[in-house]
Amino acid sequence: MTEQDKTPPRAEGGCLCGALRYRVATDPLRTTVCHCTFCQRATGAAYMVEPVFAADAFAVTSGEVSRYTHISEGSGKEVYVHFCATCGTKLFLTFKRFPGFVGLYGGTFDTPNWFDLTPETSKHIFLGVARHGTVIPAHVPTYVEHAAEIDGTPIAPTVYDAPKVIGACLVVDLPDDRPGGAPDFSVPRDFE
Ligand SMILES: [Zn+2]
Ligand SMILES: [Zn+2]
Repeated sequence: MTEQDKTPPRAEGGCLCGALRYRVATDPLRTTVCHCTFCQRATGAAYMVEPVFAADAFAVTSGEVSRYTHISEGSGKEVYVHFCATCGTKLFLTFKRFPGFVGLYGGTFDTPNWFDLTPETSKHIFLGVARHGTVIPAHVPTYVEHAAEIDGTPIAPTVYDAPKVIGACLVVDLPDDRPGGAPDFSVPRDFE
């Protein structure tokens, strides 16, 4: 038994069929909510919630991981998608560009809400191609595409004061003379 085996896991997760299991020993270093078309296709959903960990804080604890190598359209570098060949669940990403880091498919944790998405630790990227109707929370750093240039130069984020709805406006125009007056959408309570 190694030192790492004796440390209680911070959180655990796994695939749909249960064959592949993993654990992490720390909180995420940061979390990227990615709306790019690669993530939309890979998740089959509107976006990927990707908590990032140091590779040595992450361990597969059971099962055989299958790997698909994808060439990133942006960087031309290899991205490795790790998944369960039995049930098809994708569990994590590793990157030729960023050795030493693992990006998890956040929804595969046993308790997906165990880590928080705060303005300090999270960002939303690729808003330019995000699914219409997706709500971007207020106060978090957002980017039209990547958060940095290919050479690593940071790009200035856009931070919205109120939740932003991508694409067509979903707020129905309600008459001002309805009981209670006009609805105030400027500070939606759910996002406070
Ligand atoms: Zn599985
Ligand atoms: Zn993405």
